[in-house]
Amino acid sequence: MIENISNLPPWTFTLIGFIFGLMVGSFANVCISRLPKKESIAFPASHCPKCNTPIHATDNIPILSYLLLKGQCRSCKVKISPIYPAIELVTGLLMAAVFYRFGFTWECLIFAIVVPTLVIITMIDIEHQIIPDIITLPGIIFGLAAGSYLNGWLDSVLGLALGGGFFWILAEGYFRLRGQMGMGGGDIKYIAAAGALMGWVQVLFIIFIGALAGGIFGGIGMGVQKLNFLSRIPFGPFLALATLISIFFGNSIVDWYLSLMTPPPL
Ligand SMILES: [Zn+2]
Repeated sequence: MIENISNLPPWTFTLIGFIFGLMVGSFANVCISRLPKKESIAFPASHCPKCNTPIHATDNIPILSYLLLKGQCRSCKVKISPIYPAIELVTGLLMAAVFYRFGFTWECLIFAIVVPTLVIITMIDIEHQIIPDIITLPGIIFGLAAGSYLNGWLDSVLGLALGGGFFWILAEGYFRLRGQMGMGGGDIKYIAAAGALMGWVQVLFIIFIGALAGGIFGGIGMGVQKLNFLSRIPFGPFLALATLISIFFGNSIVDWYLSLMTPPPL
């Protein structure tokens, strides 16, 4: 079986990733709506948010069912948000990218778990301005285990301490200066997990890119909208985006940057 999979042409493996990702995306939707409410993600089975009719397996095919049912519940015809199929599609595409980039390796398995989690974190933080402990705390354990495999345990522990420590100091400093929380505890636990997974160089990269993306978005927001300095913009989506960039391009970008620092040969 393993022999067969590793001998498949690369595009087949990418396609398997896409289809698997669509199904994971469907499960991600369940997590996004239930985790913040501390509901079980296993029971009950998916049901219509309005009429509570259980959704039959044949009406629960990622994207396809949404299109066939024209975005409505089969029983009560209530409009189903297009965000659901969008999440399925985005997760499918990201998973295809993971399978394409990492091939049939342990890295692929690790990032096939991490990447959909980033989608879930992004959506929950946008909707509720939290990153739940039920994701970040197991995430720290997972980050240490997977990070030790990827970069060695020392780099993993350093990444956790540097990321978590840096955010904790920022949050504590802001709290003492302004008397209110600027950054949530969820962000601190998130960056600790990301640091454990990606190591100390990449966690700095993630913080830099996350702050840059958040700053650009905040700047545009202040320009075109009624956002001001006191508006709470969730930071999680930018950290998740930065983590995604780190997973796919982080090493190349850091190497390129370091090459700029090296003086050219005379
Ligand atoms: Zn319904």
